Amino acid sequence: MLLTVDDDVNVSRAVARDLRRRYGGDYRVVRAESGAQALEALGEIKLRGDEVAILLADYRMPGMNGIEFLEQAMDLFPTARRVLLTAYADTSAAIDAINVIDLDHYLLKPWDPPEEKLYPVLDALLDAWLATDRRPVAETRVVGHRWSARSYEVRDFLARNHVPYRWYLADEPEGERLLTAAGASPDAIPCVITTDGTALVNPSDGELASQVGLATAPAGDFYDLVVVGGGPAGLGAAVYGASEGLRTLLVERHATGGQAGQSSRIENYLGFPDGVSGSQLTDRARRQAVKFGAELLTTADVVALEAAGPARRLVLGDGASIDAHAIILATGVSYRQLDAPGLHDLTGQGVFYGSALTEAPGCSGENVYIVGGANSAGQAAMYFARHAKSVTMLVRGRGLEASMSHYLIEQIAAVPNIHVRACTEVISGHGTDHLEGLVLRDNATGETERVDTQWLFIFIGAAPRTDWLDGVVARDEHGFVLAGPDLVVDGRRPAGWAAERDPYHLESSLPGVFVAGDARAESVKRVASAVGEGAMAVALVHRYLAKR
Ligand SMILES: Cc1cc2nc3c(=O)[nH]c(=O)nc-3n(C[C@H](O)[C@H](O)[C@H](O)COP(=O)(O)OP(=O)(O)OC[C@H]3O[C@@H](n4cnc5c(N)ncnc54)[C@H](O)[C@@H]3O)c2cc1C
Repeated sequence: MLLTVDDDVNVSRAVARDLRRRYGGDYRVVRAESGAQALEALGEIKLRGDEVAILLADYRMPGMNGIEFLEQAMDLFPTARRVLLTAYADTSAAIDAINVIDLDHYLLKPWDPPEEKLYPVLDALLDAWLATDRRPVAETRVVGHRWSARSYEVRDFLARNHVPYRWYLADEPEGERLLTAAGASPDAIPCVITTDGTALVNPSDGELASQVGLATAPAGDFYDLVVVGGGPAGLGAAVYGASEGLRTLLVERHATGGQAGQSSRIENYLGFPDGVSGSQLTDRARRQAVKFGAELLTTADVVALEAAGPARRLVLGDGASIDAHAIILATGVSYRQLDAPGLHDLTGQGVFYGSALTEAPGCSGENVYIVGGANSAGQAAMYFARHAKSVTMLVRGRGLEASMSHYLIEQIAAVPNIHVRACTEVISGHGTDHLEGLVLRDNATGETERVDTQWLFIFIGAAPRTDWLDGVVARDEHGFVLAGPDLVVDGRRPAGWAAERDPYHLESSLPGVFVAGDARAESVKRVASAVGEGAMAVALVHRYLAKR
């Protein structure tokens, strides 16, 4: 953009006309009639992620003179070239401005003929501007603090939903400029600036989802099949359901991909001999589901399930309800919280559950601690070891052998900056606005040790979050959903079972409601089995629909 500001409308139009004549093919010319109006325009340009090459301001303007305007404009576009238009009588002020605001040039009015007096000056300034590093940013931008839990959540949400974004610290110059352009104070974080220039201060996940183009409300109110949960099981069900002609809706609370989407490298999924990142695998599955016509909702939390005559009804967190002929529950599991003093308050501020892959670059050169001894912890250790100075795995048991795949144990042993501390537990964490250290206990000797670290990633046992199904479908004592043969005890069908047949294999105690993946009692907790159960559940849905 080339921006010109002059309170004299005739002069302002004449400048803009001359600029357009020569530069209109390559640049947009923006015209303002006061400093305040020009600053407002610059704010919008900044939020849209566009760039300003030249600021051309008249010196004598009421309210805010040209030098004052250029000084404030520099805060938003420090690399834009600055030109002052002056009358002969004001040349001394213009010369002073060369020092005050690092003025690139002053032009005496009138500038006729422009071919001699205006264009040669601007050509040179544009050449210089083009040579500077001022790549425009077309992605969503997030401004926040390193240790703000909500800033982390927003980045994690965008990353897991495959929305490209660029991250700026609120106290670095470009972060400050973006906050100024958004009219937000330095503590109004996280501030998300979408690709169309809309600034959202501390947006909810729902607001974010709709701003970045993710559907948050269903298009219809009745479907053949609604799948709850967008992990591998849910995505598998959506792909098979939609491709086999069922009107299919998938409802996901946070981001499609589920746990698998957080995996840095899945090496045991069939067909990927070199491994595949969980995010890539699940993004392909999401696109495949959409290609076959499945409808996907994000940030929609299912909070209740009920029978509505022959239909099955789901209630969402916002009170909306959706009916379907059949339901597949694919709600998986979530990490358990580590119950040690100090950790709860520091969650998102150095203490993270699950991979938190977005944080890896921030760990560069630092000492990272990982709690857990299963495959997920091992994968995270391998991933963080590429960035961190050292990675220490804290394992409660006597080693990794009982809980981790052999291939991963071998990989870990070969990485010099990963250390495994067996028989070790985190007793507490401390820090003011972020994690600063941990107290560890050696379970064999009872000795405690205090270690300094800003990074703790926790991968301990996972639990199904199925309380909302209480009283509707039968669950085991841990909350996993019982299905198929597990429901028939001593030849007796489950209480309230109305159909004149036994439950199908993945069918819950409510006919027409199926369960797939990690949420099912006795499931295998693998990507492959979750995908397989998603596909199998759809086959059983067809059988259920045919024989109702
Ligand atoms: C870091 C990590 C690494 C792993 N590595 C491997 C590996 O290498 N190989 C392997 O085979 N397995 C691996 N696993 C395990 C594997 O990812 C899981 O077994 C698999 O993701 C289970 O799929 P799922 O669809 O059943 O559940 P999940 O992946 O847990 O997905 C469930 C989804 O349902 C959503 N949801 C839950 N409740 C609701 C609700 N009420 N309303 C709306 N949505 C809801 C959740 O937000 C989530 O997205 C790993 C797991 C983790 C965490």
